Amino acid sequence: MFECVLRKNRKMEAQNFLDPCQRPDIEKLTPVFQTDKFYCLDGGFASSLQTFYQKDIDNDPLWSCRALKTDPEAVIQTHEAFLEAGANIITTNTYQGHHDLFRTHIKDFKDPCIDPHLLLEKAVELADEAIMRVNGTGRSLETLVAGSIGPYGACLGDGSEYTGAYIDTVSKEFLQEWHSDRIKRLMFNKSVDIFAIETIPSYIEALAILDALKDVHGARCWISFQCKDDSHTARGEPIEEAFAQLMNHPEALRIKAIGVNCVKASSVTPILKRLNTVNNWQSWPDNDYFTKIPYIIAPNGGEDWNAVEKRWVGEIDDIICHIREWMILGANVIGGCCRVGPPKIKLIKKEIVNNIYEVTKLRLEQSRKEKRPIDQWSFDEKCLRRPPYEEQKRRIEVAKEFFRDASEDGDANAIITAQLEAMMAHNNKEMYEAIKTLERQEIPKDEIEEQPIEIEDED
Ligand SMILES: [Zn+2]
Repeated sequence: MFECVLRKNRKMEAQNFLDPCQRPDIEKLTPVFQTDKFYCLDGGFASSLQTFYQKDIDNDPLWSCRALKTDPEAVIQTHEAFLEAGANIITTNTYQGHHDLFRTHIKDFKDPCIDPHLLLEKAVELADEAIMRVNGTGRSLETLVAGSIGPYGACLGDGSEYTGAYIDTVSKEFLQEWHSDRIKRLMFNKSVDIFAIETIPSYIEALAILDALKDVHGARCWISFQCKDDSHTARGEPIEEAFAQLMNHPEALRIKAIGVNCVKASSVTPILKRLNTVNNWQSWPDNDYFTKIPYIIAPNGGEDWNAVEKRWVGEIDDIICHIREWMILGANVIGGCCRVGPPKIKLIKKEIVNNIYEVTKLRLEQSRKEKRPIDQWSFDEKCLRRPPYEEQKRRIEVAKEFFRDASEDGDANAIITAQLEAMMAHNNKEMYEAIKTLERQEIPKDEIEEQPIEIEDED
């Protein structure tokens, strides 16, 4: 009898999976980024930690990670500074964190067997403590914690994450094993929302990390490459090929964003244009789930890292002037890397907010042009099955209420979403007029962030 029920459930599951309307949507079950929202990421942790931490970081083999043990308060304060600047996502101070490295370079552990692993778990607690102090509550959809996973090369301390030279000297299995423990530790106690797999010089290491994520329930990630020029990863692979390799991995659905970090701001636009040639449904027509993958962008301050002298040399770049273009090209998460501190993050956030409305409209127009035939088909299908008049009226009321709530909260993202939903409502002349009124209101750009937009009540 029991077996019979089980078999029936299996059969239903299989049927549901075959029916596109019933199929469980993995993206929806585990959302991180909404593709119609924009997120401000924090900046370079180590260079900003120096404000609160009085010891030398650049010549420490543990880089900023030693502070997890010696000065947790400085770590919290650094996170706080980024949150106060407007960051929606803060990354744990674990870029160079690895239990072997901790064991080698920290001598006063009470239990050298267990404590190095616990130090990684503690990094998540410190990020949460900062969110608690700044927001007065824990994490939310607007405030996320990303677990920083730097490349193996970063732990060699010879700058080889910027060349990928080590990739040919170690096996993919070794890299998977090496990353595995740190990934599990960051998910063990208080789980991070997403992994920031960053400054990766080669897709081979990215694939090894995806192999390691496979065993960790609920683990999701973004992958950002370090690039040596406008079109190649640090190891010299064409960026389009790196993207295709990630998409072909069996765990590709865990990737919530792809991008670049610790590159010069001026090289980001050409890289995004190249990625857009492969990041579209034409490249992956057989994949039902595939929609355009959002980009994550975190340029450095513009100077070059001299690995021999262990210092930054050269000119500072203007990041702000590129932000609008990156958003139009598909970037949903924008922050900074080395030498980009809280003051610059504040400017980045402001520029993101100032451009949300225009960019969302542009992107919507673009996505209509690029609609894949199946989407077009379902759109026509929906029109044929237009709900009865009473049902349409009810939906319009719901959309109006949502619109009003969002305006009262002054939540710019919610207003845009509501506007778009309203625009798509059938025969909704009233709503269309309300949006037009809103668009006509001239709002000084620097006031948008603080001041909720007022809407005339139409009743
Ligand atoms: Zn960097």
